[in-house]
Amino acid sequence: MRAKLLAKEIGVRTVRDMLYHFPFRYVDRTKVYKIGELNEANSQSSYIQIRARVTGKNFFGEGRNQRFVIYVSDDTGKAELIWFRGIKWIEGKFELGREYLIFGRPSFYRSELSLVHPEVEPIEAALARKDKSGLQGIYSTTEKLSTALGTKGMYKIISKILDNLSGKIVDYMPDYLRQQYGLITLEQALVNIHQPQSPALLKQAQYRLKFDELFGIQLNIQALRSARTTARAGFHFGRVGAMFNAFYNTRLPFPLTRAQQRVIKEIRTDTVSGCQMNRLLQGDVGSGKTVVALISMILAVDNGYQACMMAPTEILARQHYATLVKMAGNIGLRIGVLTGTTKTKARREVLEALAAGEIDILVGTHALLEDRVQFLNLGFVVIDEQHRFGVEQRSRLWTKNNNPPHILVMTATPIPRTLAMTLYGDLDVSVIDELPPGRKPIKTVHYYDSARLRLFGFMREQIAAGRQIYIVYPLIKESEKADYANLEEGFAAIVRDFPLPQYRVAVCHGKMKAEDKEESMRQFKCGEADILVATYVIEVGVDVPNASVMVIESAERFGLAQLHQLRGRVGRGGNQSFCILMSDEKLSKESRTRLEAMCQTSNGFELAELDLKLRGAGDINGTQQSGEVIDLKIANLALDNQILQVAQQAAIALLTADPALADARHVPLRELSRRYEKRKDVDFSVIS
Ligand code: ADP
Ligand code: MG
Repeated sequence: MRAKLLAKEIGVRTVRDMLYHFPFRYVDRTKVYKIGELNEANSQSSYIQIRARVTGKNFFGEGRNQRFVIYVSDDTGKAELIWFRGIKWIEGKFELGREYLIFGRPSFYRSELSLVHPEVEPIEAALARKDKSGLQGIYSTTEKLSTALGTKGMYKIISKILDNLSGKIVDYMPDYLRQQYGLITLEQALVNIHQPQSPALLKQAQYRLKFDELFGIQLNIQALRSARTTARAGFHFGRVGAMFNAFYNTRLPFPLTRAQQRVIKEIRTDTVSGCQMNRLLQGDVGSGKTVVALISMILAVDNGYQACMMAPTEILARQHYATLVKMAGNIGLRIGVLTGTTKTKARREVLEALAAGEIDILVGTHALLEDRVQFLNLGFVVIDEQHRFGVEQRSRLWTKNNNPPHILVMTATPIPRTLAMTLYGDLDVSVIDELPPGRKPIKTVHYYDSARLRLFGFMREQIAAGRQIYIVYPLIKESEKADYANLEEGFAAIVRDFPLPQYRVAVCHGKMKAEDKEESMRQFKCGEADILVATYVIEVGVDVPNASVMVIESAERFGLAQLHQLRGRVGRGGNQSFCILMSDEKLSKESRTRLEAMCQTSNGFELAELDLKLRGAGDINGTQQSGEVIDLKIANLALDNQILQVAQQAAIALLTADPALADARHVPLRELSRRYEKRKDVDFSVIS
């Protein structure tokens, strides 16, 4: 039953899993507090230990709501120990008048100390315990699991495992590398991470295990990278031709920013290097990635190749098509579009023209990946705002030509450097870190729901001034029903307060039919609607320059990256734009930090770093969200930048010397490498 829970709740299935279930923090068990010493201010969210005598007990409530309380005291004060589950079992363990060592997280109610589900041990047993350093690991657990197996239970199981394995843990890291990078042995590390013999050894254990994790990931990434650069020849775009010059000299509607120029230069260097380009272009919303994509594609066309540009949605694909056609003007560029809704006849025409080389640039959705889409000579691929676009999908594009085309992946989701190095080490990264001149910074404010009247007043002013407004509601799978209800309620309220014929309100969400969604978007885009009520589906990338207000409902429920993305929908025209974060009065500390950060900065990279820090800290139950992207048990991408750099260099050095890990000393490292092989396709939205 414990085994089942372990597997289900925290994914621990094997002895190895258990051994790699590390404590997420340590407490000094040599310190015993007096009850009177503790107060709300000095013991927030940390674990403490008291030594107290049982003075009484009581039951409250019935059935599922039952609560069991043990009263204890020492010579400085009183405290309550509270259990909501496992009551029968717990009750039998206490003797009135006996003294116990009590360990747990303090909370205070009317400045009375209480501990919920603490660990309790008779004082004699506690004193007999021989902890060498006094540092005890605290293990992450879940609510369900904690009643069957608390942190102490885990400690016991792991102790047993360590005893059994003593002297038998084989280190895959060869001695010479251990010495070179100052690492203790694997066995020392595993022992000390669970049962630190001293604070110094704990540090070394952490260092070793973090290093292994990051090194294992880098071994994979660097192998991928060298496979790409050595095995796959890339097309050579040696010529800057007539079309490029025509565009640059006659069509470019504005001078490029320095950042745009730099990125174009980077792409040019890649496309004459002889290797296939795989480049990630990061640039904040509105930083002008589209024109960079267009110029790159023109470069391909000038060299006799076709190019394509893929967007995540129909709306975006159509928008890109329109933008490219308009920008290219009459320079002779033949641009086509293909999406899921392209009618049969038009589709046939496009496919034929494409195969005959009569289309230079094809814009579209995932439909471009289908087998029947055959290019004559595809040389360059742009993938825009794709949240999920893994190695596998990229490789499907390669079958569109004998050689793999150059690939440019564009995203407005800023990815902190450490994360990029870990997740996309096989891509080169370019950054547009500068907005085109003349943009007015978006004013961001945070209102509580109680200020709704003020919000409505402000919205009326903006609409009177000719502006348009987005109102976005959260929509999360787990609470989908309630979320739709909120949206519908919100929509009804807006229609009531902003009635026809003076105001026109459109709505757009995932449950609507595709045509209806398109129609709503169309109305908003061409100014037939003043307000668009929507879920997060108002995709990244949709461009309505006249929209100057972004209202985000229940903003506390969005991640920082999402908030920033949404804010990027406004501020695209010449008008002062606003982002209004609506939230409940009650906010967690973290939500408050997020909303404050949004009000203080509009720099996407700063926000991304902060996001990583906030989430990198991991939550107490150990459901580290970064784990969804990449399974890191101990390294923290927000904090372990230095170890990451060392591990990356180490992986590069090792693979340069021995690419196949064939040397007998290196063979065991293959196991480490394999452990991190199956990375999921990267999902940018998880980073939000
Ligand atoms: P994103 O990076 O979010 O895809 P876009 O490519 O859609 O941004 O560009 C946003 C807006 O900025 C567009 O209207 C585009 O024409 C404009 N723009 C892009 N580059 C420049 C520039 N160098 N100077 C002025 N405006 C620019
Ligand atoms: Mg864009």
